Amino acid sequence: TTETDYELIGKQEVLPLYVPRQKFSHKGTYGHSLIIGGSYGKVGAAILASKAALVSGSGLVTAFVPKCGYVPFQTALPEAMVIADRNEAHLSNITFEIEPNVIGIGTGLGTEEETIRAFSDFLENNKTPIVIDADALNILSKNKALLEKLPKQAVLTPHPKELERLIGKWKDDFDKLKKVKSFSKKYDCVLVVKGAHTITVYDEKGYVNANGNPGMATAGSGDVLTGVITGLIAQGYEPLIASVFGVYLHGRAGDIAIENTGYQSLIASTIIDNMGRAYIDLF
Ligand code: AMP
Ligand code: MG
Repeated sequence: TTETDYELIGKQEVLPLYVPRQKFSHKGTYGHSLIIGGSYGKVGAAILASKAALVSGSGLVTAFVPKCGYVPFQTALPEAMVIADRNEAHLSNITFEIEPNVIGIGTGLGTEEETIRAFSDFLENNKTPIVIDADALNILSKNKALLEKLPKQAVLTPHPKELERLIGKWKDDFDKLKKVKSFSKKYDCVLVVKGAHTITVYDEKGYVNANGNPGMATAGSGDVLTGVITGLIAQGYEPLIASVFGVYLHGRAGDIAIENTGYQSLIASTIIDNMGRAYIDLF
C-alpha cells in the first residue's frame, strides 16, 4: 500500500465530477431508476431508496415491491411508479417489462427461499447496471457463485457486517483493504465500504470520504445512500463516479441536516430532505 493508492475526497475533488442540468432537457434525459426490494415490515427501506433516487436527480423512478408494498408506496411517494409482485409479503419473481437505465436492489428485500431464487434468476438474465445493498448482498454472500453473474462494474455497498459476510474476517485495516481490492478486481465491481469514513474501492484505488457524522448511524441511512448512487447512475454518471460523488453528497446532506436536528435526532428521511442543500452547497 502506497499513498497514491488512496485519495481523500472533499468538495474540491467532487466538483469536477458534477454534470449540470441542461435547459432543453426532459425527464427522459435524466434516466430511469428501478428500485427492487421491500418485504412485509420492511417496505420503508425501498421507499427511502426510491425517494433518494428522485432527490439525487433521477428523471423517473419505478419501484418493484411485494404486493403488501403497493398501497404504502403510492401513498408515501406519489412521484414513483410501482410494480407489485404477485406475492404478498416478499418478492417471488423479479421480471418486468420496463427498461430502466439502472437497478438498485436489496433494501428491505429479506432472504426468503423464494426471494433468493427470484434474485438468482434475475441475475442470470440481467445486463443493466446495478447497485447491490443489504439483503441482496447477504444473498450473494451465501451463494458466492452468483457473484460471477454480476454485470460489469456493479456497485456493492456493504456495511461492516455485510462486508465480513462477503469477504470473510480481516486481521486489521490493511488486511481488510487488501481483501477488498482483490475482491473488487476478481468480480470487476465497485466496493463502497461504508463506515465513519466510507472508502470506495475500484481498480486498485481507494477514495476516502471525508464528511459525514455519527448522527448518520441510524436506521435507513444506508438505504438512502443506495438510492442516491442509483439515481446518479441513472443520470449517466459512471458507476465509480456515482459512488464517490454519491457518498460525498449523502455525507454532506447529513452534515447540513444536523445543523437543525443535532446528532441524536437525525433520521434517514431528513438526510433525503437535505440532498438539495448538499447540491446547492457545491457552489
Ligand atoms: P447502513 O448500516 O446500511 O444503514 O449504512 C449506514 C450509513 O450511514 C452508511 O452510509 C455509513 O457510512 C453511514 N454512517 C454510519 N455510521 C457513521 C458514522 N459514525 N459517521 C459517519 N457516517 C456513518
Ligand atoms: Mg443497510
